[in-house]
Amino acid sequence: MIHEVEVGTPDFRGGRPAALLMLRDSSLAAVGIDFGHSHVGVAVADIGHNVLAERRCDLDVSHDARAALDASTRMVDEVLTEARVERKSVIGAGIGIPGPVDRARGAAGSATILPGWTDLRIGIEMRDRLAMPVEIENDANLGALAELTWGAGRDSSNFAYIKVATGIGAGLVIDGRLLRGTSGTAGEIGHTTLDESGALCYCGNRGCLETVASGPAIIKLVGLVEGEVPTLSRIVELALAGDLRCHRAISDAGHEIGVAVAGLCNLINPERVIVGGLLSRTGEILLQPMRESIRRHAVQAAADTLDVLPAVFVERAELLGSLALALHGSSERATRMVG
Ligand SMILES: [Zn+2]
Repeated sequence: MIHEVEVGTPDFRGGRPAALLMLRDSSLAAVGIDFGHSHVGVAVADIGHNVLAERRCDLDVSHDARAALDASTRMVDEVLTEARVERKSVIGAGIGIPGPVDRARGAAGSATILPGWTDLRIGIEMRDRLAMPVEIENDANLGALAELTWGAGRDSSNFAYIKVATGIGAGLVIDGRLLRGTSGTAGEIGHTTLDESGALCYCGNRGCLETVASGPAIIKLVGLVEGEVPTLSRIVELALAGDLRCHRAISDAGHEIGVAVAGLCNLINPERVIVGGLLSRTGEILLQPMRESIRRHAVQAAADTLDVLPAVFVERAELLGSLALALHGSSERATRMVG
């Protein structure tokens, strides 16, 4: 799996000369599967992190889990054929779902987010269908892994990836590794309380960040556009085209998100905050008020050393993250084998 590419100079402590080891690119591959609410994406990459083939299809994933699992299995066959990768060279599959993951059960952790997926052991189902080891992760953590592997977090080992879309979630990378927490809910920044007597949130608490800055909250605030309720992507388009009301709704969301992110910065002192998700397409409309709000609410030393920047990936974040999940798992296994 690995080969030696260069012999280093002996270190000053007089130890054995270091050797640089590289993974052999072409020998092994990993599969990534992204289940969105209304699409399935599948990709294959070699162990050198090069994406070899990918596919995407639209499907009502939230309500028809079996059809989604069948489609993804078929698409895995297609990408492996296209990339000329034999199934026996695949070390595993990373699988993304748009909601909390119960890692112990290998299932979706919330019936309200994925109604058709209740009681489905995704891990076991997919392992049996694909005949390979699988790992499951939520969308914000996958976004963080994609940025860590290929994007704005490549040369950083401490950062927070904030996904701002229909929901608001964070993927936290601490010392180069994803922080998952005891029950997998680390990074649920969307449910930070901003106003104890605020609006009731779907999580059961009141005044969560999502009640004022999520996609539905922004849509509600904007109200009718040309006599119709706009979609979130339409609001993004309008804000970019200079519509004052859409611009204001998104920048106010950025301000509120900044309050919650400031608390996060006080706790984990990240080097970067990488902002992804659909709303990140508005660039500085969202980012500038976030920066101001973080500066206002975080301790100065944490804010001074922090960069707030847009994510490199928006549409493909989860698919690339699921590939990275399979690849990172494999490099950990490889490291153990070498050690
Ligand atoms: Zn909530």
